[in-house]
Amino acid sequence: MNVALFPGSFDPVTKGHESIVKKALPMFDKIIVAIGENTSKKTMFSLEDRLKWLKETFADCDNVEIDSYNCLTTDYCRQKNAKFILRGLRDTADFQYEKNISDINTMLDPEIETVFLLADKQDSSISSSFVREMIMFGKDVREFLPKSVVIPNK
Ligand code: ADP
Repeated sequence: MNVALFPGSFDPVTKGHESIVKKALPMFDKIIVAIGENTSKKTMFSLEDRLKWLKETFADCDNVEIDSYNCLTTDYCRQKNAKFILRGLRDTADFQYEKNISDINTMLDPEIETVFLLADKQDSSISSSFVREMIMFGKDVREFLPKSVVIPNK
């Protein structure tokens, strides 16, 4: 079975994340969308909220599993028998950042391959950090979020 892990902070999940997973669905038997908790990043939203929004986003996708993990991404892949890591690319800055992570992950486990998909044009300027900033200033962010996700004003 071809299992891919789509790891991230999803703080919060956006249309960009949703689109990457939906484009990758025909390529894998299962995609695990999982929140990595071991990063030093301070998040705006709790793990519970972020998991809830991911579950709502992919509620109609039978072969998508939602989870979180507290270890190295490659160790979590081994636990879940995932041979692929899925990542999205918006621009060259993403490429540079993602290539470094991918190189490190290959050093840690050469059997795990990172697969990159390009963001759709209409999603390429959406980022969780931009959405967070809009929320902080009380702006309506619905157009950047998956349809089923409703984020209450902070
Ligand atoms: P991280 O904290 O690991 O960077 P994110 O939640 O920000 O996690 O992003 C997870 C993955 O989704 C990354 O590969 C990122 O490049 C990708 N991504 C983020 N926003 C978009 C978007 N608008 N379109 C396509 N891919 C995206």
